[in-house]
Amino acid sequence: MLVVDDVEVVVDVVVVGGSVVVVVVVVVVVVGGGASSVTFTMINVATSPTMMVARMMLSAVLFDMGEGKTTGRSHTTEARRRLRDYRGDEGHGGICRLQSAWMTDGIDGLSPVQQRTLDVLRRSGDPVVFDAGFVDDIRDEMRAALDHFAARLGADEEVWISKHRIASVLECEEHHLLPDEFEWTSANANGTIAHKAIELLLSWPQRRGEPTPIDLVDEAMSRLGDESRSIGQWIETLSPADEADVRSQTTVRVTQFLENFPPLSRRWAPVTEASIRWPNSGPITLSGKVDLLFGRPNGRESRKVIIDLKTGRPNARHRQDLAFYALLETLVREVPPRKVATFYLDAAEAQADDVSERMLETAMRRTLDGLHRIIELESEGRAPTRRPGVTCRWCAINDSCEVGVAYLDARRASD
Ligand code: SF4
Repeated sequence: MLVVDDVEVVVDVVVVGGSVVVVVVVVVVVVGGGASSVTFTMINVATSPTMMVARMMLSAVLFDMGEGKTTGRSHTTEARRRLRDYRGDEGHGGICRLQSAWMTDGIDGLSPVQQRTLDVLRRSGDPVVFDAGFVDDIRDEMRAALDHFAARLGADEEVWISKHRIASVLECEEHHLLPDEFEWTSANANGTIAHKAIELLLSWPQRRGEPTPIDLVDEAMSRLGDESRSIGQWIETLSPADEADVRSQTTVRVTQFLENFPPLSRRWAPVTEASIRWPNSGPITLSGKVDLLFGRPNGRESRKVIIDLKTGRPNARHRQDLAFYALLETLVREVPPRKVATFYLDAAEAQADDVSERMLETAMRRTLDGLHRIIELESEGRAPTRRPGVTCRWCAINDSCEVGVAYLDARRASD
């Protein structure tokens, strides 16, 4: 089987009868076995102000569509400068294909851990193409289920479903209904700051050279501190010693990522903190935010890889969270991702699963089960059940809940 490696589209703009006409001149298809990309080459030979503006606009569109580059004699430098101004130094919403000092055009000189991670994540074997009928069935079944659940909601009632809410209601309904007493601490804030720092890493301007982990963490804290989100307010109130503590913990995480994760090729179109939501109308919305994803579908061929970054030990919930993201991606894009993976920063280890029909069906059943319970408990007033488990360790009523106390005592005895 032949695999398309690179496609180069060469584009020119000409004036015919006073009108600007875009001409797609050449398509070069390279056949091989590596990762795929589409490169748009804009021929920049400006002969009039009208032509220059037309070329600039087309350049911007092409850069947004793929891994753009401009060639030619006249305004290449100007095009790049204007494009940077147009996109901003950090690119669009964490998406950066051109400017990062950390991303590469190729992958070489990897450490053993980086190579191992790359081996776990990269494509192998035949292209992954899901049956179109299967994808349609998943979408149809989810739509029908959401219509059914929506009919059980009160007027103007809306339900947001996240991986966290599904897991929470399935683990212990009583705990799920307890007031959310979440507070920022250095332990939970450093994950959010590290994600922001990694987002900046992927967009770091090439002209500024490769950033150090401390550069990234400082910038991330400064940006989050400026935000009105609650973490911003929390950062603003930190004492110098607490701030130093958070910086040092977060720097460890970012260093672990830099050292152990393979540099991301621009050709993979990496994106951090990507929001995903389905459907786009109606009272029930499934939503998520993916730590890191790369790859784009090629027609119906699945190429996207979804990655969650974690500290701590692996547990079953991490895989279920990723399956929820794979389901969401299937619902939104109609092409399932190729692979999902958790990258454990402390252990420098990626655990990956190929996305399969079985994974997506299981994720759908679990999501609908959780949604059914959430509506029963939150909208229809059913009394919650108590289900002891790991959640008991941080549950606010774990000193008064009988089954929770018994569970924790039994755990302590067996430790
Ligand atoms: S202590 Fe455990 S069983 Fe009891 S409500 Fe909390 S999480 Fe549920």
